[in-house]
Amino acid sequence: MSAGTGIVIGHLVTLRRFLLTFWRDIRTGKGLHRRGGGHQKLDFWWNRPEHGKAPVVTQDATQEGIFTVEYPDERLPTYERFRVLPVLVYDTEDGNVRCTSCNICAKVCPPQCIWMTQAKGPKGNVVPLPEEFFIDMDVCMNCGLCSEYCPFDAIKMDQNFELSNYERHQTHIYSLQDLLVSSEYYARTHPEAWNSDDEKAERAKVAKKKDQRLQKALGAAAKPAAPKPAAKPVAVEKA
Ligand code: SF4
Ligand code: SF4
Repeated sequence: MSAGTGIVIGHLVTLRRFLLTFWRDIRTGKGLHRRGGGHQKLDFWWNRPEHGKAPVVTQDATQEGIFTVEYPDERLPTYERFRVLPVLVYDTEDGNVRCTSCNICAKVCPPQCIWMTQAKGPKGNVVPLPEEFFIDMDVCMNCGLCSEYCPFDAIKMDQNFELSNYERHQTHIYSLQDLLVSSEYYARTHPEAWNSDDEKAERAKVAKKKDQRLQKALGAAAKPAAPKPAAKPVAVEKA
């Protein structure tokens, strides 16, 4: 085989596959459907009232046809359990950050990309709140273990995947402010989990537990120090 013939044959094979794919889709009528076997015909009539209101479509292994999602104008559905990066939840009603800075998520995180410092009360004693909380998003492997292990229902996996930017050092280390989301946001993006009996019971339990810990820490700080007992006179042994 002369030099270059293999390349030409390779291209012809690719071209044949390309044409066969389209021919099969046109012959079976599937090429006239948008989105991998979806029910909507190609939208040639731009002034129809239904124009641009195509349903979000899905594709599975049984579907055939030309399948092109015109992102970002069109999107595949985001499933509730799809997880990207963790977020920290605060309660919408009172603004309370649920995290108590217990450090469990940092301990279980396999690549060790979480770190934090605990807040201090006016008297310098620690209180169950994070002063600082960081996650290195370039290191996070989206495993969700932090969320599974958190005893205060405070860290959850988010579905937002549109996170690219032009700087890959400082902006990829998310601080407390970057991580905070409201419970209302979490309820909207995870309706099934939010309304489940498990999560409802857990929410009530952890809110009470967290409040008790906070009150205890603040109470300890407010309590005046107990006076020290007077030193006992040292008995002088007589000779
Ligand atoms: S495990 Fe939960 S409460 Fe503890 S530090 Fe992590 S996010 Fe905060
Ligand atoms: S999702 Fe996994 S890797 Fe990412 S911060 Fe949580 S425990 Fe660590």
